[in-house]
Amino acid sequence: MPDSNGLTGMPIDTGPFVEAVKNRTERLIRHAEKQKVFGWFCTYTPIELIHAAGFLPVRIYGGMIRVEQAGSLVPNFVCPYMRTSLERALRGEYRYLSGVIQGYTCDTPCGMMNIWEENTGLGLFHTVPLPYNSGEGARGFYRHTLNELTDKLAEAGGKTSPASLQRSLDLYAEIRKSLLRLHELRARDMFVRPARDFYTIEEAGFSLPPEDYLAHLTGLIGALDYKTAPPAGGIPVLVSDCRERFVSLMMLPRPD
Ligand code: SF4
Repeated sequence: MPDSNGLTGMPIDTGPFVEAVKNRTERLIRHAEKQKVFGWFCTYTPIELIHAAGFLPVRIYGGMIRVEQAGSLVPNFVCPYMRTSLERALRGEYRYLSGVIQGYTCDTPCGMMNIWEENTGLGLFHTVPLPYNSGEGARGFYRHTLNELTDKLAEAGGKTSPASLQRSLDLYAEIRKSLLRLHELRARDMFVRPARDFYTIEEAGFSLPPEDYLAHLTGLIGALDYKTAPPAGGIPVLVSDCRERFVSLMMLPRPD
């Protein structure tokens, strides 16, 4: 529902973000009829490559849910995100996925990929191993793993070209820049919203087509007139976690 908080006098409408989160499953079931949808778990999944191949990458969601069926497949010490995600998959909530593609963040998703593969009946399962340094050998290794993923996506019907890859890289880069702008505006008290509302805006980006998401973000930032924002004071601190890919920028007061 639009409100009149826009500094330009334009209404601020967070409705598209709220709707996107609320109707995620139904929307993605419909979307999968026209474009293949691939899920991903944690940070470092190269979602640009999935998008460049012509598919929609979406974040697999865990959230608040009672773990019942998944409890017989994974031990309790596995992180809550993985347990609740699997529970949703076993209940059939991820039937719109054509597979799962995962960047190697920790050992857990690697083991979970096998459990998903054996129990969900989805098609493609692929883990992208990551290098641990940036030396020449590591870069060659990483290039090889990305080529391997591109080949897997081609087997699933994807078509990647240098132009499509550049478009996807530019698109996601613009989304990240827009989110950073929103965080800056919030840190300057120019976009005063509870953290839950703000997170909904971010969460919508995990499942919307990136073109649509960027359009919604651009509209929101336009209403806030970020160009006239005064410079922020204080010390910028970036907070992030691996579970929900939550990233927040806040300003801490400078010590006297
Ligand atoms: S949420 Fe964190 S702990 Fe859990 S699988 Fe992902 S990277 Fe590992």
